[in-house]
Amino acid sequence: MESDQMLWDMLKSHIGHQVCIVAYGDTDDPMDICLECEECGEVILDAKIYTVAAREK
Ligand SMILES: [Zn+2]
Repeated sequence: MESDQMLWDMLKSHIGHQVCIVAYGDTDDPMDICLECEECGEVILDAKIYTVAAREK
């Protein structure tokens, strides 16, 4: 499965949910930053795992 499709499905399952950005460790110099869904109690995106790559044309 394409990673874009995975991201799409991942975000789609949380449409309308309360999400927030959570920093782990020192707030000024976090070890990790995650996008979490408060309603599901799930990490949607983990900055350590996922990267936003520039699209190559
Ligand atoms: Zn959710």
